[in-house]
Amino acid sequence: MRIRSHIVLLVAAAVLPLMTFSTIMTVVFWRQQRAAFEDRFIERVRAVSIALDREHLATVSALRGLAESATLDGGDLSRFQSRAREVLAGEESWSAVTLLDLGGRGLVRIPGRSGAPVPSLNDSATFRRVLETGQPAISGLVTSPGRGGYATYIAIPVTRGRALRYVLVAEIDQRIWLRFLSFYPVAPEATMTLLDQNRIVMARTLNNDQWIGRPPSPTLYAKSAEFPLGAYRNVGLEGQWFYSAHSRASLSGWSVATGVPVGSVEASLRGSLVAMLVGIAGTGALAIGLVIVLGRRIEQPIRRLAGLARSLARSDTDPSRVRVSNVREVDEVAATLVEAAELIQRRSAELDEALAKETAARAQAEDASRSKDEFLAMLGHELRNPLGAISSATAVLDHAGRSEAAAARARAVIARQVRHLVGIVDDLLDVARVTTGKISLHRQVVDLASIAQGCLNTLRASGRLAGHEVALVAEPAWAEIDVTRIEQVLTNLLVNAVKYTPASGAIRLGIGAEADQAVIVVRDTGIGITAGMLPRIFDLFVQSDSALDRAQGGLGIGLTLVRKIVELHGGSVQASSDGPGQGSTFTVRLPLAAPPAPPHAAAAAAKAGSGRILIVEDNDDAREMLHAMLELWGHDVDDARDADSALACLQQREPDIALLDIGLPGCDGYELARRFRGSAAGRRVFLVAVTGYGQPEDRGRAIEAGFNAHLVKPVGPDALAEVIALARGNRQNR
Ligand code: ADP
Repeated sequence: MRIRSHIVLLVAAAVLPLMTFSTIMTVVFWRQQRAAFEDRFIERVRAVSIALDREHLATVSALRGLAESATLDGGDLSRFQSRAREVLAGEESWSAVTLLDLGGRGLVRIPGRSGAPVPSLNDSATFRRVLETGQPAISGLVTSPGRGGYATYIAIPVTRGRALRYVLVAEIDQRIWLRFLSFYPVAPEATMTLLDQNRIVMARTLNNDQWIGRPPSPTLYAKSAEFPLGAYRNVGLEGQWFYSAHSRASLSGWSVATGVPVGSVEASLRGSLVAMLVGIAGTGALAIGLVIVLGRRIEQPIRRLAGLARSLARSDTDPSRVRVSNVREVDEVAATLVEAAELIQRRSAELDEALAKETAARAQAEDASRSKDEFLAMLGHELRNPLGAISSATAVLDHAGRSEAAAARARAVIARQVRHLVGIVDDLLDVARVTTGKISLHRQVVDLASIAQGCLNTLRASGRLAGHEVALVAEPAWAEIDVTRIEQVLTNLLVNAVKYTPASGAIRLGIGAEADQAVIVVRDTGIGITAGMLPRIFDLFVQSDSALDRAQGGLGIGLTLVRKIVELHGGSVQASSDGPGQGSTFTVRLPLAAPPAPPHAAAAAAKAGSGRILIVEDNDDAREMLHAMLELWGHDVDDARDADSALACLQQREPDIALLDIGLPGCDGYELARRFRGSAAGRRVFLVAVTGYGQPEDRGRAIEAGFNAHLVKPVGPDALAEVIALARGNRQNR
């Protein structure tokens, strides 16, 4: 159902009872009006009937005056005659006076010629009533004996003493009554009718001549017999509807009746009735009109509200410009709709965003999973090579007919491949520790240029540059770094550059300072990196497809380590490439540090020392480099590759300082220190642990084993000089 229909029903529910009540009241009012009219009508008719009685009484009393005239005492009728003539002349409404004897014979009749015969009365009933009752009697309508036409009689007895002598009769012409009726108009259009005691029309103001002597309308005829006084609706003699009323005069028994055409009565009543009905209908029409106008004012905002809801659903509406109506509730709903739409839009944007994030995360997870699968394949490949070499070398050793030289080569292969395997495992452990943030940095302020130079030297010496020439362009750039870790970064970047650059290519290592940053740039002219790979290149296990089949291998963890380490230093690393075949550039930025104060005098002196120093190190390159550096400083240097030769050297040479590598094959550095301390020569020596582990617990363990100092690999010249100076001071104190 439409809202307008509801409003119509609502208004109808409010207006209909009112209209019904008004209609009922109108009907009640109508009836009351009519009753009041009837009352007024009856009152008037009654007044006329009273006037009629009074008329008769006046006639009776005038007749009595004449009856008591002394002229009748002696029976001299001629004197009475002249007396009667005088009286008749004074009574305008009388047409004749007749004196009858008790036998009903006329004695005198005026007017009439004296001596002429007196016509007898046409109404013997009235005459008889006077004789019977001795009281005056009034006749009905009778024909007049003398003149013809209609008349009425009033007869009274004439007595002398107690004896009835004559009957005196006054004759009144019927027209007198017609005139009488016209004196008492009940209402302007009223028809007056006078009925005698036999309910015969005696006079009628309308069509008198037609109806005189005839009965009235049947209703009037019946009602006038039934009640002395009454009002009712009645069909008149001419056939029209009348409001009729009649009143019976008590003296004569005559009835005065009147009729007013229903139309004229009701016209006056109808005026107010019609006004009321028009009022009621007008109210109804006004209500309907208002319903239509106001309904539209309510309906239109609701339609617009629906339109707003639809356009909000299509989101093609600017919610801030929405104004629906001046109906507060509708505006509230509109505002709520707009709010809800905004909320839904926000929610859906959030959902979209969450979905996008989720999709990206899933893509990332899928990438990671793919990288991991590739990594596992790569790891298998990487492990299979050294394991294959080791297994072949073992077979050589097991072979009965092998030469000593072949056996030595086989052992060397096994040792090298085991070191390679250890390297792989170390890398894996390292990346695990670095990525979970479980390493701590041992920072010192160093010049990155010297670190880069050292690193290049080491790589070159170990042959890992594979014949590539790496150009170093270095300016001093001091940074507070963990030397071992930054060397790891440089090594990774340089080894990658070598791996991914053909022999003909060029590699350049640049060190410098820019504003507040120390910058390391490794640039090559190698295979380059695709744009798709660039953003992922530092992710764990990520390797470009082109690199997979390279003989150089790799596990895709080097760059992850690089980034983590650089970030731990508060720096950043960036890869760039113009695409495949265009070479790659890796740029590491670290916070620049102020250069340290000039080295301690004692440490400087250590570099120009003359102590006896024993180096115990199984890594040939490291041992040789250290040896060479200490000799350059002027020291007397011995070295040993393992525990046994170290102990032998201790006894023979009695060094001042012994630098013991902790990770020795067979007997580790801690064990060797304990054995040193067990001999006399060993108790005097200043023992320095050289280890890759720099945690406080590693230092504690070293001190416990009998070491005096603890150096973390790779050992820089300054750190070494400081330790030598410390050893010197120690000896002097003893
Ligand atoms: P990997 O052990 O495979 O070298 P890295 O994490 O060091 O692992 O490097 C990840 C990948 O980044 C390599 O597989 C290679 O595809 C690419 N990459 C690294 N360095 C370079 C470079 N200098 N030139 C071209 N590609 C490089």
